[in-house]
Amino acid sequence: MKPLILIVEDEAPIVTLLRYNLEREGFRVIEAADGDEALLQAEERKPDLILLDWMLPMLSGIEVCRRLRRAGENKAVPIIMLTARGEEGDRVRGLNSGADDYITKPFSPSELIARVRAVLRRAHPSSDAEALYYGDLTMDLAAHRVKRGERDIHLGPTEFRLLRHFLEHPGRVFSREQLLDTVWGPDVYVEPRTVDVHIRRLRKALNEGGGDDLIRTVRSAGYALDAAVAA
Ligand code: CA
Repeated sequence: MKPLILIVEDEAPIVTLLRYNLEREGFRVIEAADGDEALLQAEERKPDLILLDWMLPMLSGIEVCRRLRRAGENKAVPIIMLTARGEEGDRVRGLNSGADDYITKPFSPSELIARVRAVLRRAHPSSDAEALYYGDLTMDLAAHRVKRGERDIHLGPTEFRLLRHFLEHPGRVFSREQLLDTVWGPDVYVEPRTVDVHIRRLRKALNEGGGDDLIRTVRSAGYALDAAVAA
């Protein structure tokens, strides 16, 4: 059965946007406009994932998150917090209170879907581990194949591992050092500049057929898989 997503958000336009994009990707959606209703819905409907806004009337998102984590049956339900851009402290507190991930508003639909899929995959490692998705990008892990839309993308082994790492953490910014550690391994000595070379190759391969640049360069910080923020 299609995963059931509970949206907890009091702003109707955002609920509409979330619902539209989730349903288009085949998810089932239920809603709650405040914290109490969220707890009730979670109890009754047993969602597969909860999208939880930080700013809610009465009970805050973070309090809802804490209560869900304390409560019996919903203890392990994956929770993604929605936060305002730049509220670094909120994100840390959200993750500390038991959220699995966060999405900053405004978010792009492709980032939203990628995060939801990634968190669901982590919660159920076997159910959807065959492929990774982001926007129009698909990575078939078993066949070792990458496609953008209908176009096959040919990658070297390092670019493949880099892209896989980005697809597993969409939207996250990684420094060159972090990428070296996770993609090349901590014992391999290569210059941080080597990362730039492989990013350049990856970017070229992904963008050859046109379409938006999916790799974001963050000056002096690193790189992220991040489509243009559209919402
Ligand atoms: Ca809100």
